[in-house]
Amino acid sequence: MDMNTIEAVVRTADPAEWRAGDAWLAGGTVLFSYGSTAFGPEPLRRLLDLGSAGWPAVTVTDAGIELAATCTVAELYALPDTLAGAPRAGEPTAQAQQAGSQPTARDWPGLDLIRPCCDSFVASFKVWNMSTVGGNLCTSLPAGPMISLCAGLDGTATVLSPDGSSRELPVADFITGDGQNALAPGELLRSVSLPASALSSRAAFRRLSLSNLGRSGVLLIGMLDGGGRLTLTVTAATKRPVQLRFGSLPDAADLAAALDGAIPDSLYHDDIHGLPAWRRDMTYRLAEEIRDELDTRPGAVPARVSGEFWPPQSPRREPTPQEGA
Ligand SMILES: Cc1cc2nc3c(=O)[nH]c(=O)nc-3n(C[C@H](O)[C@H](O)[C@H](O)COP(=O)(O)OP(=O)(O)OC[C@H]3O[C@@H](n4cnc5c(N)ncnc54)[C@H](O)[C@@H]3O)c2cc1C
Repeated sequence: MDMNTIEAVVRTADPAEWRAGDAWLAGGTVLFSYGSTAFGPEPLRRLLDLGSAGWPAVTVTDAGIELAATCTVAELYALPDTLAGAPRAGEPTAQAQQAGSQPTARDWPGLDLIRPCCDSFVASFKVWNMSTVGGNLCTSLPAGPMISLCAGLDGTATVLSPDGSSRELPVADFITGDGQNALAPGELLRSVSLPASALSSRAAFRRLSLSNLGRSGVLLIGMLDGGGRLTLTVTAATKRPVQLRFGSLPDAADLAAALDGAIPDSLYHDDIHGLPAWRRDMTYRLAEEIRDELDTRPGAVPARVSGEFWPPQSPRREPTPQEGA
């Protein structure tokens, strides 16, 4: 769509340059789909292009993974392959020996969530290669797959303000509703940090959509850490992410009771991709499947599977010539 109210495109990642009528431009897949009159009472006048920010897309350290807001879906999808070439845990590199620590990134089970979350983006070739982690978070749709990933892995968002200050907040709190987030005018999402503590937990993923290539209607992620603590993150079904934390693996009744308490009926999302009652029923069902899957205690029953899980049942489709053009 033409953005015919735009008077200037400014290459900057400095929030001090922001003024009323500006929008940060990342991949542009939302901005150029919705047009320049869809983002507030006044049409947009300038786009502040983050393309020249020069932020490394992905930074991996022993502490975890930092994703730049400008990291594209394609760059994120490549990360597990990149790390597969890294040394195994227990194989010290010169750098790790110097730092007195062992590299572990290659063995982080949480990495298994990256590809199913990227695949949840039922995206065209252009969206896949242009749209960004930050653009997805800042669009703040309930079905934002990067929101699911970053909230599910206990990500922390770093936000830069026009007055030169910065602040951090959990991704689960960054999204406040359907299309709503914690950004004040002019604020810029700089990055999301995924901590090693979450990445080293065992992960379980479930997603349902009403149609084969449809937007997510329900997407749940479970993380079981080394101490047996469960974090369950509900996205897509709800208007904003909902996280439940358990000191140990709950039984089915306790899990259902916790969902009752955490998600009032009014929080289930309602749009063409699923009725609230269906999203609610599937949330309980998938939560129970995740509980089963992560329960490896003697006598535990094998997990049932609804919808998609990891590894995916069908490979990602190739772009059509029209999409790739
Ligand atoms: C075919 C198709 C399928 C899609 N499927 C999905 C889907 O399944 N789920 C979904 O959630 N979306 C979907 N989208 C919408 C969109 O493509 C994604 O949300 C995408 O991730 C947006 O990223 P972007 O970098 O292109 O954002 P942009 O269009 O560049 O920006 C989007 C918004 O975020 C703001 N913004 C961008 N980066 C920052 C930043 N760092 N700090 C502050 N503000 C920022 C912009 O000002 C703008 O308001 C789809 C779109 C298409 C065309």
